[in-house]
Amino acid sequence: MPAQAEGETYVIATDTTFAPFEFRDPSTGDLVGIDMDLMNTIAEREGFSVDIRSLGFQAALSAVQSGQADGVIAGMSITDERKEIFDFSEPYFESGVQMAVAANDDSIEGYADLAGETVVAKSGSEGLAEAEKLAEEYGFTVKALDQSATMYESVKNQSAVAVFDDYPVLAYGIDQGNGLKVVTEKIPGGEYGFAVAKGENSELLAAFNDGLAKLQADGTYDEILDTYLGDSE
Ligand code: GLN
Repeated sequence: MPAQAEGETYVIATDTTFAPFEFRDPSTGDLVGIDMDLMNTIAEREGFSVDIRSLGFQAALSAVQSGQADGVIAGMSITDERKEIFDFSEPYFESGVQMAVAANDDSIEGYADLAGETVVAKSGSEGLAEAEKLAEEYGFTVKALDQSATMYESVKNQSAVAVFDDYPVLAYGIDQGNGLKVVTEKIPGGEYGFAVAKGENSELLAAFNDGLAKLQADGTYDEILDTYLGDSE
């Protein structure tokens, strides 16, 4: 392991679509978003290079675990369970899970209306874990899907009645007119962190933390958030 990140090139895995954290700019096709801007700006300032791979959430976590990627930035929640296999950076965004339904659906107003229904959430995500925790009590079925686009489409075409996802992502999508609405309170908890495999790439983690602290101190962090969240933050 190199003593310092400077001069190194790291493979960084991310989700395919998790707007506003990572998504393809519709006009340029470039991978953009809060995570991408943070990672690229930190790399530039700390003097290392990144090769970003848009793999999907579960695939990104697996790539780091198997050593195919050096780090993951994917709106990834810092959890005690994940700390067993990953080392996390300082938290960089406060998040949590919420439930959304189709905007024109007035039949689901809360978990109690889910009896006998199917909900969707992303494979390997905290949204999935939260849905699974509630499923038995409220008598609904949870289906795991790999891609955000498929999750949202399932709710719009009513093959599922609801989606469990992170609230900043739901809010952003709804604001962009994705045809959904949120119907439950936010489930608190779930700050985002950049992660490396446990015990690996500690110099990369240190450089990320150092860069993040500098971006937070000089206002660049706020500018990046503003670019994607504007007044909604
Ligand atoms: N924050 C959630 C998690 O870590 C979802 C991340 C994602 O879908 N990219 O499980």
